[in-house]
Amino acid sequence: MISEKMKGYVANSSVIRAMFEEGKRLASIYGADQVYDFSLGNPNVAAPEEVKQAVMELITDEDPVALHGYMSNSGYEDVRETIAQSLNSRFGTSFGQKNILMTVGAAGGLNVILKTLLNPGDEVVAFAPFFGEYRSYVGNYDGVLVVISPNTETFQPNLKEFEEKLTPRTKAVIVNSPNNPTGVIYSEDTIRDMAGILNRKQKEFGTDIYLISDEPYRELAYDGAEVPYLTKYYDNTIVGYSYSKSLSLPGERIGYLVMPDELADAEDIIAAASVANRILGFVNAPSLIQKVVAKCVDAKTDVAYYDRNREALYGGLRKLGFSCIKPEGAFYLFVKSPVADEKIFCDAAKKHNILVVPGTTFACPGFVRIAYCVSYETILNSMPGFEALAGEFGLIKPQEA
Ligand code: PLP
Repeated sequence: MISEKMKGYVANSSVIRAMFEEGKRLASIYGADQVYDFSLGNPNVAAPEEVKQAVMELITDEDPVALHGYMSNSGYEDVRETIAQSLNSRFGTSFGQKNILMTVGAAGGLNVILKTLLNPGDEVVAFAPFFGEYRSYVGNYDGVLVVISPNTETFQPNLKEFEEKLTPRTKAVIVNSPNNPTGVIYSEDTIRDMAGILNRKQKEFGTDIYLISDEPYRELAYDGAEVPYLTKYYDNTIVGYSYSKSLSLPGERIGYLVMPDELADAEDIIAAASVANRILGFVNAPSLIQKVVAKCVDAKTDVAYYDRNREALYGGLRKLGFSCIKPEGAFYLFVKSPVADEKIFCDAAKKHNILVVPGTTFACPGFVRIAYCVSYETILNSMPGFEALAGEFGLIKPQEA
């Protein structure tokens, strides 16, 4: 018999993953080019050429025993030092290798830091809409997820409600910018205000509140938008990074945590996170790919590819009468459902072989998420289906300007 806790998780198992499976089923019936699967944030852009080169060089040149062996639970020292120096030159920080812990993607990093920080009943704040897996990650350590309701006009965090919902039990706050599912980038003013609130509340309660910045989409920002580096605004900040999207390596499971010296109890947190990495069963991040990302610190994915998709999808859907804000980063469009129960819209879309994810998954009903990390042709070819949907749901086509 499985555990009570797992029963709950299985019952609410990821809608996104279920959609992905549905996409594969539809593709086997209609052919892959007849299915418009916008369900999963799985990059359609190949990893940069530097990644392939690095893999080849490492396999050819390195001692295989060392290359594939265990190392420190925090990861290879040289890899962590390379990443620390790269961050320092980009953001003017002063990290050393001890501040970096290599993780099994952002998901691994979030689990490591939550295991490190949480006692049962501790509260973790997240701003809706958010990546739905946060619910399980917080639940894994018997934390309590406190949800801040969305501002559905701007999708910037609702700081008034945030301030009201911080309590002496608040242990951590998770932010994700550029955001999945909205594509919004939290502005520098927002970050400053958030830091001000956190500092005030820490003082008032006599506690430490850790800000966890979940950053798989940091490198995906359009039109020259800046993504503030949060350790510079608030001392108790931990950054979780991932190469899943920035180098198109989601299956390789590689990322890192940054735990700056400025954190309250930094030494203990750094030591405990390394133990958490081990006892969660990760032991260490995969060895070969650690070395690969260190060789590719300056490599970049093709942001222009996603940008072209963004323009085509946003422009196309707006023309058909759908309403959504223009994403500033990541590769998702968060579209207002033409009916209040967005699952009705998702089911109707499926009849046109279009797969989109209900906003309820992200704690934001009434919206759907469209992941545009697909081929450009998929976007163009999906437009007749979206046009039919616009007709079915009575959206009024605005006059051409
Ligand atoms: N956090 C957010 C906001 C995400 O969107 C994702 C993946 O889509 C993750 C974390 C997990 O990423 P990873 O593949 O690096 O574990």
